[in-house]
Amino acid sequence: MKPATVRLYNTLSRRKEELRPLDDGVVTIYSCGPTVYRYAHVGNLRTFMLPDLLRRSLEYLGYRAEQVMNITDVGHLTDDTFDRGEDKMLVAARLEKKSPEEISAAYTEAFLDDLGKVNIRLAARYPRASDYVPRMVELIQQLIDSGHAYEVDGTVYYDIASFPAYGKLSRNSPEKLMTGVRGEPDPRKRHPGDFTLWKAAGENRLQVWPSPWGPGFPGWHIECSAMSMSIFGDRFDIHTGGADNVFPHHEAEIAQSEAVAGHPVVGLWMHGGLLMLSGTRMAKSAGNFFRVTELEEQGFDPLAFRYLALQAKYRAPLNFSIDGLAGADRALHQLRDRVREWSAESGSVDETWDARFRVAIADDLDMPRAMALVAELVHSDLQPGAKAATLLAWDRVLGLDLGRKEAARELPPGAGELLQARERARADRDFAKSDELRDRLAGLGVTVIDTPDGQHIKR
Ligand code: AMP
Ligand code: ZN
Repeated sequence: MKPATVRLYNTLSRRKEELRPLDDGVVTIYSCGPTVYRYAHVGNLRTFMLPDLLRRSLEYLGYRAEQVMNITDVGHLTDDTFDRGEDKMLVAARLEKKSPEEISAAYTEAFLDDLGKVNIRLAARYPRASDYVPRMVELIQQLIDSGHAYEVDGTVYYDIASFPAYGKLSRNSPEKLMTGVRGEPDPRKRHPGDFTLWKAAGENRLQVWPSPWGPGFPGWHIECSAMSMSIFGDRFDIHTGGADNVFPHHEAEIAQSEAVAGHPVVGLWMHGGLLMLSGTRMAKSAGNFFRVTELEEQGFDPLAFRYLALQAKYRAPLNFSIDGLAGADRALHQLRDRVREWSAESGSVDETWDARFRVAIADDLDMPRAMALVAELVHSDLQPGAKAATLLAWDRVLGLDLGRKEAARELPPGAGELLQARERARADRDFAKSDELRDRLAGLGVTVIDTPDGQHIKR
């Protein structure tokens, strides 16, 4: 079957465009991945959900997708911190008394676990920046040779004046690029907006590589040019990231990759909206974040976060709240209950409903519309078996584990009655009794957590 037409919003053109893969039927996707010096938070996970939804949707519509996600294990994050010489990987290594390799290995593992919790399927490959440093050095040398970069005292800068299209992704003018630079301009730069490709090692002794300009380490932006072009060559279909990656990270990537290739490398740029917490961006550095494991400890199903995220357009900012999550958790459990009931009857996927679902996901991954369709289907008079079959098919895209047998069915004998008794004790505000029942449940291996939304169980 010929894959359906898919339209996706391209950050570069500010329009929805028809996806036309370079290779018929296989879509190549490069996704900016995590920096692994700390745990990922659910804001990061929202950004990583974008390529997951993209792949699941494309596959549902008849494409094959090949996704690569990089792991940034060289800890230089932004030009800002970079120029202060602050290296987050090294800071973490010092604080935790471990080597940078141990730090990145531990947080990479935690990152992969977190992905699993929210049903983000694994990419085909996870290249690590530290494995591509020679390729970065090669690219930087090519940029110097072609007049796009210059070296001062062992540090190499990209000369943004050499690339007239600089600013085309973020629509930043040179004036705005100037004002975007904080603090004292670096006197060694020709233009305050020039960014660092290679940094002289200086005092650093860890994570240092040899180069034609002396020992040092690569800037953050060159990592993604090197990895994406090493793996996919000088053209691939889609590049994803979070909205905060548009500038400077992806603007710089375009300047580097296109200067070397001589033509656009990326077919379509997709950016996920930020996750906010009480009006400000959820951020590792600001410390205002939740890990998915924390939500789980509070008794929520990690997939409730996925459900919550699906209710917003991927490009829109989304405000995170525990109340919102509790609502999503409730709705998710109800939906699973219905699917379980309806699965008792046999039925097959309803083509008319499914056609509507396909239209929604093919229109720039319109998940809010897909979720509205889920609700409409639930309340429709379609035969129950067909409802279940249709929802389970859609779940290949939604990833909500709708076919899961709910925990209530898997409880050890006696636990169900204890839970009910505890529910009553809580309603009667008999806390001594409810504590006693909690201990008895713990004895059966059932951990109960109280939330504003009632008692949740964890096993
Ligand atoms: P980091 O590990 O800090 O490099 O972040 C990994 C990815 O998460 C990047 O692509 C960011 O764009 C994205 N990201 C960071 N903070 C948020 C947030 N609050 N909401 C959504 N995505 C975010
Ligand atoms: Zn990147």
